[in-house]
Amino acid sequence: MKFNGYLKLRIGEALNLKPTTFSRRHTVIFNKAPQILDPYIVVKVDDVKVGQTHTKQRTNMPTYNEEFCLNVNDGKQIELAVFHDTPIGYDDFVANCTIQFEDLIKTSNTGETFDGWMDLEPEGKVYVLITLTGSFTDDVAVIKENTHKQFTRTRQGAVRRRIHQVNGHKFMSTFLRQPTFCFHCKEFIWGVFGKQGYQCQVCTCVVHKRCHQLVVTVCPRMKKSTKEQVTDGLP
Ligand SMILES: [Zn+2]
Ligand SMILES: [Zn+2]
Repeated sequence: MKFNGYLKLRIGEALNLKPTTFSRRHTVIFNKAPQILDPYIVVKVDDVKVGQTHTKQRTNMPTYNEEFCLNVNDGKQIELAVFHDTPIGYDDFVANCTIQFEDLIKTSNTGETFDGWMDLEPEGKVYVLITLTGSFTDDVAVIKENTHKQFTRTRQGAVRRRIHQVNGHKFMSTFLRQPTFCFHCKEFIWGVFGKQGYQCQVCTCVVHKRCHQLVVTVCPRMKKSTKEQVTDGLP
């Protein structure tokens, strides 16, 4: 089922945000205390970025109270991805969650607002309010029309990188500074000349781009699937 209509999404607060093992790869050797984040949340509809909250300084429990309104055509899912604002290079991935429009069909029919805590993976949760005004259509006989309202992009970097989720891993393209073994095919991914690998932002394993969809090992740090969490969050 796909949603056509008007989406109003309000992001309230987030709790229990933690830096991933990957983002702490340079700090752990110094045995520092848990890192405080400068978190912001990117909102995507079907992998197209439609908005971004402001960055909250030095907090692992930010309050945003920011609202995003847009027209959605054939929408399948909303993704919320939390990033840590870094001074240089790509911003660090912190956690994300996906919400299927289909799972909100009940609230849409009754005109109610869905509000509740969404579990983030691998850590944390975020409070959202979602109001849908529109209708659902079956997947068949739908002409793909990419008319998501694009908000002005103010920052480049991490937000352009897609999160590829395979068996709980959250792969994002990463520039490798040294030759690294592919977790899947065990061959080298050469880091010279700017070769990219796909690195899981949760367990740090690295694979070739061509190998990422073939990874069969479940990410060791995942507790449960997003699907279960979405269902849990519904009234
Ligand atoms: Zn992983
Ligand atoms: Zn490989």
